[in-house]
Amino acid sequence: MKTGKLYSIFFNKCPRCNKGKFWKSNNPYYNLFLNGGENHSHCLNCDLKFEIEPGFFYGAMYISYGLGIGIGSLILIISLAVFQMKNIFLLSLIIGISILILAPVNYFLSRLIWLNTFIDNKP
Ligand SMILES: [Zn+2]
Repeated sequence: MKTGKLYSIFFNKCPRCNKGKFWKSNNPYYNLFLNGGENHSHCLNCDLKFEIEPGFFYGAMYISYGLGIGIGSLILIISLAVFQMKNIFLLSLIIGISILILAPVNYFLSRLIWLNTFIDNKP
């Protein structure tokens, strides 16, 4: 049986029981554009309340910011090292578009990471 925080984060599972889903769909794009970016309020398996307190998920913005910086840095390093791009305008455009395209994935992962920092795994 697979358990743990990384399993919970990457497979969209409840941080406590690792069985119930956090998001209604496993697809970040479907979640954001067709489900309105809403997650389940409680775990369907262990009944854990996901929003610990009102406004709890505002803290996920810190994680989202870090992920955005990570994605941008990674694309910058790849562009400089592999493709040897020197045009700062083109680099900025590529990084900006990449961050926009990956925003649903960032949103999806940042809430799961934020929730996993506060709830212990008890399978
Ligand atoms: Zn659960």
